[in-house]
Amino acid sequence: MPEPMLRQQLCDYARKLNSSGLSVGRSGNLSVRCGDDCLITPSGVDYQQLSADDIVLIDLHGQGSEKSLQASSEWHFHCGIYRSRSDIQAVVHAHPTYCTSLACSHRTIPAFHYMVAVAGGKDIPLAPYALFGTEALSAHVSKALQQRQACLLANHGMIAIGESLPSAFNLAEEVETLAEQYCEVLKLGTENILSDEQMQQVLDKFHDYGQRV
Ligand code: 13P
Ligand code: ZN
Repeated sequence: MPEPMLRQQLCDYARKLNSSGLSVGRSGNLSVRCGDDCLITPSGVDYQQLSADDIVLIDLHGQGSEKSLQASSEWHFHCGIYRSRSDIQAVVHAHPTYCTSLACSHRTIPAFHYMVAVAGGKDIPLAPYALFGTEALSAHVSKALQQRQACLLANHGMIAIGESLPSAFNLAEEVETLAEQYCEVLKLGTENILSDEQMQQVLDKFHDYGQRV
């Protein structure tokens, strides 16, 4: 997709971050890969006021033009993900209520439901706490996402990644739904975690699930 279209797509999805309830106010940020660089939302800007020109172009080490707005404070982990995962085209970071609640109690999302496999593995991992906007947080995130498309961030929120912005965003919504269901299960008091073998069967079946076009 050409850069102007990617800029518009980022604005549309930044607003969707608010309207979907995934993030309230200015929390969260989004990026897409753009050739050798990436386009990322600016830091601390109200998404309702955001225009395509406000989106910031940076290289994969965070360098951009002095004339542009300040890139999201989380450029370290956005860029770190693009450097370590050549298959990834988009990153969505948000602070949705249920993912964040689990992350604040330092829980992963285990295989309580087979759909946990939607994030590419047998659980949805938790990246340990580090201060927002740091290289230390980026290192934890890159490790957690080595073999997954989503993770929780301790005392902070969540990240979903994908081959396009719509797919990363949809995954973020699916993970938040799983987190909500898991919080309800925890309230009931009985977790029935699927075995490694059962989850491997799900992962295998996901390979040829859905429509083949
Ligand atoms: P930015 O406004 O700098 O993108 O930060 C929001 C956020 O969620 C930090 O983790
Ligand atoms: Zn955040």
